[in-house]
Amino acid sequence: MDTKKLSKDKLGEFVAVLAKQNKLYIPQKEGENLKFKPLSGDQEELDFPRITTVPPKDVFFPQTETLYRFEQGGTDISFPKEEEEAVVLGIRPCDARAMAIMDSLFSWDIDDPYFLNKREKTTLIGLACLEPGVNCFCTSVGGGPASTEGLDILLTDLGEDYLLQVLTEKGGKIKLSVEELLEEAAEDDLDTAEKLVKEATSKIGRSINTDGIQEKLPELWESPLWKNLSNSCLGCGICTFLCPTCHCFDIQDEMEGLEGRRCRVWDSCMFEEYTLHASGHNPRPSRRERLRNRINHKYSYFVQNFGKIACVGCGRCIDLCPVNIDVLDILSQVVKEAI
Ligand code: SF4
Ligand code: SF4
Repeated sequence: MDTKKLSKDKLGEFVAVLAKQNKLYIPQKEGENLKFKPLSGDQEELDFPRITTVPPKDVFFPQTETLYRFEQGGTDISFPKEEEEAVVLGIRPCDARAMAIMDSLFSWDIDDPYFLNKREKTTLIGLACLEPGVNCFCTSVGGGPASTEGLDILLTDLGEDYLLQVLTEKGGKIKLSVEELLEEAAEDDLDTAEKLVKEATSKIGRSINTDGIQEKLPELWESPLWKNLSNSCLGCGICTFLCPTCHCFDIQDEMEGLEGRRCRVWDSCMFEEYTLHASGHNPRPSRRERLRNRINHKYSYFVQNFGKIACVGCGRCIDLCPVNIDVLDILSQVVKEAI
């Protein structure tokens, strides 16, 4: 593995080079929330939070995305312009794993050009998570504070410097573009990084043994568990909108005068309208069925289809649910109740 070191004194120059050659996304404030946005000229100090409120999935799968434009009565449609080369800087390993999970979906039965073009043009520079949050459980679902899945480069904060590990060809190209800012990494630096990551892993306080959950879930289809769990659910959809692996969408047409656009917008299986048929029938009529679906989708159906759990243990759904519904508590009950 190609490993270098970047002094924190040179972080500003590093960012400037990246921004000159690419559209550069970094975590920024938007009102009360944090999300990855393109670097703007008036950017204040660089700050890499543990995790952003809005996951970086919206760089590739925006909350509202124009698929094409048209005119009423016309026969032509126009597509969005070509994607630019981009870099996402400071993405956490769980969120990068989430992108690898979404790749499976968006290249499943049909390749989704909107998502995949952005993925192809974008380099992910991750930052190892040395201070996990109280609700992180990445190690239970195949990840870890320095997981490299989905990343092109991994940075680890050594104090005065970042250790920079190149993981892919795309990462190698970025490294070349900033080569003059980098120094050789010593064996000691690698040891320090390893020690820090080990300490971070030991700080992860929450866990679940996911063995067998995929098989257990169908057995509990009619269990009273779902009614009990969903009693307090408000159906607000935050747990799915802000989940880095959730990917449900709706397609809508919007008109402004004679001009229109077809767009894709985030949707949520926690909403009543999500499965409402035109006939008025709804196969998931209450929050009981919708919560059951959310859990089954992530921990059973997705595993059947793609061989991986559609959860990276980021803890956002736990942190942000307004009524404290906790996915780990749900999974513990599934394990306990299974026949
Ligand atoms: S965030 Fe909580 S209240 Fe809102 S839909 Fe999800 S589980 Fe229900
Ligand atoms: S289900 Fe919750 S913990 Fe898992 S990836 Fe989604 S938001 Fe994160």
